[in-house]
Amino acid sequence: MLFKKSSKINRIRSFALLLVFFGFAIMYAALLFKTHFLIMSIFMMIGFISVLLSSGVYLWVGMLSTKTVKVICPNCGKPTKILGRVDICMSCNEPLTLDPNLEGKPFDKKYNRKSSYKEG
Ligand SMILES: [Zn+2]
Repeated sequence: MLFKKSSKINRIRSFALLLVFFGFAIMYAALLFKTHFLIMSIFMMIGFISVLLSSGVYLWVGMLSTKTVKVICPNCGKPTKILGRVDICMSCNEPLTLDPNLEGKPFDKKYNRKSSYKEG
């Protein structure tokens, strides 16, 4: 469900959000191991690192956002941001491109990283 087709920035944001939830879940789980100090410490560390990582990802998204190109989506008429050569409209998921060579060609996930779009 998280890996449905959406713009890159939205995907990175979902990933960061997932990391935060994961981090807190792990830290919560650590509390269940109060009697095992070592296990608790390890869980706490993993959780803490996840939360730190997600902050890093948010920072990264912020920096990426400055590199995006703002366009008006030809499909839905709403402003959206394009990151890289091809991206997907944040409002209507219409594939958009900045590269004239790719214009008119069917959207190909290969232009983005694979793994990002999974069926089911
Ligand atoms: Zn659109």
